[in-house]
Amino acid sequence: ATFGNLTDRLVDTFKNLRGKGKLSPADVDGTVREIRRALLDADVSLDVVKDFTSKVRERALGDEVSKALNPAQQVVQIVNDELVAILGGEARRIQFSKNPPTVIMLAGLQGAGKTTLAGKLAKWLAKENHTPLLVAADLQRPNAVTQLKVVGEQAGVPVFAPEPGNVGAEDAAPSRGFFGGTVGNPVKVAKDAMKFARDKQYDVVIVDTAGRLGVDQELMKQAADIRKAIDPDEVFFVIDAMIGQDAVATAKAFQEGVDFTAVVLTKLDGDARGGAALSVASVTGRPIIFASTGEGLDDFEPFYPDRMASRILDLGDILTLIEQAQGAFDEEEARKTAEKFATDSFTLDDFLKQMQQLKNMGSIKNMLGMLPGAKGMRQQLENFDESEITRTEAIIQSMTMQERRQPKVLNGSRRVRIARGSGTTVTEVNALVNRFEQAAKMMKTVAKGGVPQVPGMGPI
Ligand code: GDP
Repeated sequence: ATFGNLTDRLVDTFKNLRGKGKLSPADVDGTVREIRRALLDADVSLDVVKDFTSKVRERALGDEVSKALNPAQQVVQIVNDELVAILGGEARRIQFSKNPPTVIMLAGLQGAGKTTLAGKLAKWLAKENHTPLLVAADLQRPNAVTQLKVVGEQAGVPVFAPEPGNVGAEDAAPSRGFFGGTVGNPVKVAKDAMKFARDKQYDVVIVDTAGRLGVDQELMKQAADIRKAIDPDEVFFVIDAMIGQDAVATAKAFQEGVDFTAVVLTKLDGDARGGAALSVASVTGRPIIFASTGEGLDDFEPFYPDRMASRILDLGDILTLIEQAQGAFDEEEARKTAEKFATDSFTLDDFLKQMQQLKNMGSIKNMLGMLPGAKGMRQQLENFDESEITRTEAIIQSMTMQERRQPKVLNGSRRVRIARGSGTTVTEVNALVNRFEQAAKMMKTVAKGGVPQVPGMGPI
């Protein structure tokens, strides 16, 4: 999906910061370098990338990170903030005219998704208790008028078109008589539509205009003329998120030629690398207002910069991951445990505490699921049974304090008693004691700097 690869790259980058108590300037530089590469590979424009990374870098080296309880998380937060900023900051809503109808003009290249968007907008507005009118001012593309009529019918919204037989505008007809939509004056159609909308009290007019395959002067002039004639409240520049590197040049050309009040991104459901989305608002200074995510009329949503940023960053997952990792592997606790291993004072009580910590982490499998690349570990954990922790708990809790501290005293009759007390079997008690002894031995080696030799125990 769009941003999928970018998300993976950013998640990987942040993973390297996980668990770091303090970030060195080298950590920050490394992170910023990775972010820069990831954005460039996602087709984000160079200027935007430069600006973005320099802001992130400056903030990451500043007080808000060095004084943060959790520097890694703070860096993720900064990247999130800056993403929200380049996506336009606050969510932008349609500015309705106090003096209806509110006029919305759509501009953009052919194939960008304008006509489809017109239908989506109309349907959405109708649901919000508006009374929209669609206007076919695209007289360039042979099928455009028909297509708008089809879309209008699906949306249940009337279409004003320079042809007889259109829904709802039959009696409008000042512009009736243009057949096939290839002749006629789109400026006149738009103007007539305005009069019609006022007479019939439609409260929103959506004007679909012609697009060409590439930016050209004639197209720009026509759009600019329509704009001048109808003085719209909003001009939405519709851009296909798939066009990648061309997004910036196209957006700038439309800004100069027609100018627009907001951007609509289409085809966000595709495999676009997402660069257009991340560049256009920032380069033109115009906010993204809607996103189109499919061919159906309901595949459409208001655009929220903060939600998009979270989606790009997979933020929910990253933040949870960082929190869980830090909560579960408390450093002080880990140091004490290592000391106990080294001095042979690790007891079954400590063993139990460790297991309980693992349990506190919630679903370990889920957590590892969030880590790209932790496949090996994940596979090991496929067989990991959390109910085993519960049985282990029961066994250890059935032991006396002395037995927990000195497992050596566990003779046959004690083991029978413990099995009975914990509702398990002697075999299970034996297995636990063996595992504990192996773990203690292995950890002692590790604590002394050696390499553990226990087969079948992974690096958990
Ligand atoms: P126009 O030339 O700008 O009016 O573009 P159209 O509205 O005719 O759309 C061009 C093509 O893109 C059509 O086949 C649409 O069905 C398709 N399309 C439009 N928006 C989206 C979208 O958000 N996602 C996908 N997958 N296809 C879209």
